[in-house]
Amino acid sequence: MWAYGVDKEKLKEIQSVRLEDRIPSLGIKKLDVPIPTLKPDEVLIKPKYSALNFNSLWSSVGYPVTPFQLISGHVSRNPADKDHLLDYAIFGSDCSGTIVNVGTNVQNWSINDEVVVHCNVINSLDPIIENDSMKSATQSIWGYETNFGAFAEYCKVKAGQLLPKPVSVDWPHAASYCLTHSTAYRMLISDNGANLKAGETCLIWGAAGGLGTFAIQLCKLAGVRCVAVVSSEEKAKICKELGADIVIDRSKSAFGPFRDNTGKQDKLAWAKGKKLLASLGVKNIDVVFEHVGAATLGASIYFLKKGGRVVICAASSGYDAEVDLRYLWMEVKTVIGSHFANYSEAQNASNLVAPGQVVPKIYGIYEISKLGQLMDEMFLGKTFGKIVFRH
Ligand code: NDP
Repeated sequence: MWAYGVDKEKLKEIQSVRLEDRIPSLGIKKLDVPIPTLKPDEVLIKPKYSALNFNSLWSSVGYPVTPFQLISGHVSRNPADKDHLLDYAIFGSDCSGTIVNVGTNVQNWSINDEVVVHCNVINSLDPIIENDSMKSATQSIWGYETNFGAFAEYCKVKAGQLLPKPVSVDWPHAASYCLTHSTAYRMLISDNGANLKAGETCLIWGAAGGLGTFAIQLCKLAGVRCVAVVSSEEKAKICKELGADIVIDRSKSAFGPFRDNTGKQDKLAWAKGKKLLASLGVKNIDVVFEHVGAATLGASIYFLKKGGRVVICAASSGYDAEVDLRYLWMEVKTVIGSHFANYSEAQNASNLVAPGQVVPKIYGIYEISKLGQLMDEMFLGKTFGKIVFRH
């Protein structure tokens, strides 16, 4: 079958390029590999559409760790999955498609069922999953920390990763939302995240992105005032259309950068940012939706009102963030770590897409052969919303 990912030879090639010169298309290739064989709890899917997530960009540039290191980590947590240890890794963590085969222990799912794949891989025998499967030591992200991801003619998943495809949602839209929408749902709505309340104000970084376009819509549904931050006029327009109350185009206004040329936090820039927010009528920020990390986390904490919370799921600009802790303890603020979503959070998020209460914002639908090109565009910040591929 065909598949897109990396093999050990390609990985060596990308590793020979200086990190600052790497772009994702240099680190992926079209592979010709066997159709995966099923263990008893697994299901073989023929994806109709898949969607791109930033984790595939990290995998293709081999940073901060390589796909093979991630898969080894998964297998050490889940020794039964040693069939994932191969000379190649297939990327991709979102797809919609049909079931073409089921393992001998799979119940409730049958050949020809139409499904959306949820990217949380866990050992279903771990008792903690009844509470929150994201806390299971066995937990991994499919197509990033595991092999056999979505960018392939066939992919295999655990039966516990399947959600029924909402009948009202077409195939491309069904492929687009599970990873980022479920992540945003946990971050903003769930008790495991910021648990937003009507009337609060939320600042969203990268608001026109894969996470941000869902975060805006979730804020609006929750009755929350939404301050969207972006870096172009086109992205600002998208956020307004999605319902953002206030949009800051950081390419034009005095809103960052919040670090100086040496990488030190620029507290004068923080103060200017707060002043700009006040001039727009934003005096009290209850929640900041964070995934940028080192470039913004210090400022995010500073911008919050007393008792406010930052909810963070990533660190695209760097994970060694510097913060001024005085603004944390003196102002009794909280930083909440959040990662993807458990099954019930993902199902709740999906239930909002089915009736059209949340509508995935699609950047474009492309042939899967364009994967490398679109990965580069996303890496360079040129895209918005979700990028979908036809298989
Ligand atoms: P996108 O590329 O779609 O959007 C990210 C946006 O962040 C960019 O478009 C940019 O928006 C903004 N951004 C980037 N750098 C900076 C900066 N220095 N200052 C301010 N804004 C910046 O990516 P996603 O939304 O899909 O994902 C974002 C991150 O979240 C990735 O690192 C991804 O791996 C991670 N993630 C983590 C998940 C988890 O479960 N833990 C789940 C999903 C994603 P603009 O230029 O318009 O301001």
